[in-house]
Amino acid sequence: MLHLKRLLRVSNRSFLAFIFFFSLSTSCLYFIYVAPGLANTYLFMVQARGIMLRDNVRTIGHMIRLYTNKNSTLNGTDYPDGNNTSEYIAQPIAYLPDNFTYAPNLPCPEKLPSMKGVIDVNMTEITMDEIHQNFSKYLDIQPAGHWKPKDCKPRWKVAILIPFRNRHEHLPILFRHLIPMLQRQRLQFAFYVIEQGGTQPFNRAMLFNVGFKEAMKDLDWDCLVFHDVDHIPENDRNYYGCGQMPRHFAAKLDKYMYILPYNEFFGGVSGVTVEQFRKINGFPNAFWGWGGEDDDLWNRVHYAGFNVTRPEGDLGIYKSIPHHHRGEVQFLGRYKLLRYSKERQHLDGLNNLNYTPEITMGSLYKNITVNLTPELAPIEDY
Ligand code: UDP
Ligand code: MN
Repeated sequence: MLHLKRLLRVSNRSFLAFIFFFSLSTSCLYFIYVAPGLANTYLFMVQARGIMLRDNVRTIGHMIRLYTNKNSTLNGTDYPDGNNTSEYIAQPIAYLPDNFTYAPNLPCPEKLPSMKGVIDVNMTEITMDEIHQNFSKYLDIQPAGHWKPKDCKPRWKVAILIPFRNRHEHLPILFRHLIPMLQRQRLQFAFYVIEQGGTQPFNRAMLFNVGFKEAMKDLDWDCLVFHDVDHIPENDRNYYGCGQMPRHFAAKLDKYMYILPYNEFFGGVSGVTVEQFRKINGFPNAFWGWGGEDDDLWNRVHYAGFNVTRPEGDLGIYKSIPHHHRGEVQFLGRYKLLRYSKERQHLDGLNNLNYTPEITMGSLYKNITVNLTPELAPIEDY
């Protein structure tokens, strides 16, 4: 060490300063790299607070305008900056009455009397066997979690795709809430848990592409829901059917103070029709590690000419199961890829993906295990 110092001709003090700054910067880098979520949750919170502040200022401004300008309309829809005011003025929601009679040959309505609103969320841990015992017997669930209503024709055939690795305690908690909710919504559904094997960083987006391809081998699904395992819906009027436009279901999360963190946020739980998914060439395959793939999906749907809709008012609220990021890494290359979303859209996605799945049939879901590597989705450039 002394020899090194003499060789570099530096004083004791600058040598110590060098050691200090070097260790500070490496620990900072280490933190950014190995702690996905933490830093980002903080960033989202700051963004959410900004949005909240801006909205408050806008609402106060609007009230002042209403007060000072007697000619303006009083229904609250005349924001001059063209903002969507549905957040402020909840639309009246007409749900069917309890005595509504179903007809097996008619489509199930969307606003069913069985959809009561707020769900009691129960986060206590439970085993899959217990869930199976509770549900399969009473609720007529078929293998792989397949179910369809008998008293009306389901409006949508929904494949629920869940990306998964090492979150075993989350899965039964999710099923405990989702199965009764989807039954109350009278949708036809089945669950696909797409589990990543191997040692590569987690690739949520590629798992969804695999899940899609596998699900379509089973049935002619028309609607896909991309569902994080740790997101528990808190309102059963958050209808998991599809529509004209891609949908972002998880608009308000408890971990972000029930505020949309930024307008282009498309994470957690989202959905598209099979037709839309094919048109956008699925998810990108090149996002290895935490972050960015949901933003890329947002870009893809917009480049394809779609807009994203969200559940109105407080219907899209979710509780997230608290968790640690067990050795998961951030994807630091995401910003670069996001700059080329448009160019990459037709080069990387459903069309360049090959894989060999290992399939096991569970009582409540189909498990598709894949060992993902970048070679499975080759891409020439970008
Ligand atoms: N996921 C998983 N295992 C992992 C990382 C992610 O199962 O090691 C899945 C899981 O469905 C999770 C989703 O990918 O809900 C999103 O990842 P994560 O929960 O880490 O993201 P965050 O909540 O920090 O945004
Ligand atoms: Mn999570």
